[in-house]
Amino acid sequence: MGNSKAFLTIHRQEAGHRPVHDRIADFGEVEQTLNSHDRKLQASRCMDCGVPFCHWACPLGNKQPEWQDALFNGKWEEAYKLLNATNDFPEFTGRICPALCEKSCVLNLSCQEPVTIRENECAITEAAFREGYVKVVIPERNGKKVAVIGAGPSGLAAANQLNRKGYAVTLFDKNEAPGGLLRYGIPNFKLNKTIIDRRMEVMAAEGIAFEMNADIDVQNLPSGYDAYCICTGTPTARDLPIPGRELKGVHLALEMLAQQNRILAGTTFTKEELVTAKGKKVLVIGGGDTGSDCIGTSHRQGAVKVTQIEIMPQPPVGQNPATPWPQWPVVLKTTTSHEEGCDRRWCLTSNKFIGKNGKVTGVEVEEVEWVPNPEGGRPNMKLTGKKETIEADIVLLAMGFLKPQQPEFGKNVFVAGDAASGASLVVRAIASGRKAASDIDKFLNQ
Ligand SMILES: Cc1cc2nc3c(=O)[nH]c(=O)nc-3n(C[C@H](O)[C@H](O)[C@H](O)COP(=O)(O)OP(=O)(O)OC[C@H]3O[C@@H](n4cnc5c(N)ncnc54)[C@H](O)[C@@H]3O)c2cc1C
Ligand code: SF4
Repeated sequence: MGNSKAFLTIHRQEAGHRPVHDRIADFGEVEQTLNSHDRKLQASRCMDCGVPFCHWACPLGNKQPEWQDALFNGKWEEAYKLLNATNDFPEFTGRICPALCEKSCVLNLSCQEPVTIRENECAITEAAFREGYVKVVIPERNGKKVAVIGAGPSGLAAANQLNRKGYAVTLFDKNEAPGGLLRYGIPNFKLNKTIIDRRMEVMAAEGIAFEMNADIDVQNLPSGYDAYCICTGTPTARDLPIPGRELKGVHLALEMLAQQNRILAGTTFTKEELVTAKGKKVLVIGGGDTGSDCIGTSHRQGAVKVTQIEIMPQPPVGQNPATPWPQWPVVLKTTTSHEEGCDRRWCLTSNKFIGKNGKVTGVEVEEVEWVPNPEGGRPNMKLTGKKETIEADIVLLAMGFLKPQQPEFGKNVFVAGDAASGASLVVRAIASGRKAASDIDKFLNQ
């Protein structure tokens, strides 16, 4: 460990974001970077505490203190090797992970200034690509074949791990390019798609076969493989079947987000197909991350006003005594998209879409109260009768995804990622893909 007392004198320093007026004019990544001197200082803040809770909190079991030390000492290649040993794609998590580890960092628990673990992870990986530490390794083949269905982070991680173990891996996806929600959900301002392409080039060079535009019937899997890994995500978004749902201008969030990412990749759409917020009042229903991505996308498309409503109450700011560590802190999350301008409202349920000439013009909402449940658990919702109409020319439904029901599969079929757990996080998808690869390896060698 480099500097055991650094945390006493060096404060957490985040790289910050591009100024709002600048970033909303394009879809470039909003997060900035520190210079390598400051980045190493940030790494020096890691105390290598005896029981590193960050290991435990990261679903990948990343060895944060070890790579922070290598980073502090300027050993960037060693830092990358340590990081990549547990995380196939630190360039993704380094950008978009909610950093479960930082909530468990002792410097968060003691003084609310955790080590900038996520940003350090990103900096190490960028240096690794820049300096050529990410090398193509072609494994010796073991003669067995595995098909991975779905090229989101879980499928990519499963494919990468299996390929490294010597299996001939074919990765099928119904989309035109790999990445799953990394490519066709998460906006470019959080994750530039060249970051995905760069990793796909390495994986293809290492021997993984990519079969895109291949919509596979999982009940009738392609023949000729020794095992299969189903990584098909959560294809069904939760809808809002209230009166007026058929009105023009009411869309599922991904209709806008996926289309915007495709436009940035060069795909063209007709005027009728376009789902755009340009010149419109936008209402986002759902207060989570997908909703936040709709807000940022709406700003960049030229929305005149953006409102986001959530049925649950506003969580507390900063700390929440109801969710002490090690629980996930349920606190108000203000994203860069919120900072760009948004009217955020809580405790509102949607009664009906209102429209004129077949087009949506607003949503009738009603205030709700949450009363404690005498049996414990989730509080009960009570309608208050206080109704109002929020004007909107476009409504985006960002209310989560339904957990898929998987059919009964044969013994050589494994399920990973959101397809197994329901909608979750990229870091958990990668961890699940790695676990499935390890299970497949054990199964094929028993
Ligand atoms: C808008 C949005 C923003 C998000 N932001 C974040 C974030 O900032 N941080 C974070 O950690 N998580 C975020 N998430 C969650 C994260 O993206 C998912 O948890 C993660 O992508 C799940 O990975 P996966 O591989 O299981 O599934 P997916 O990424 O959904 O990939 C599944 C793949 O399977 C393919 N597929 C499905 N069916 C078939 C079939 N029959 N045949 C062939 N291919 C098929 C799909 O085309 C897709 O490519 C976000 C999610 C959304 C929707
Ligand atoms: S993947 Fe996420 S939880 Fe794990 S070390 Fe990186 S930022 Fe932390």
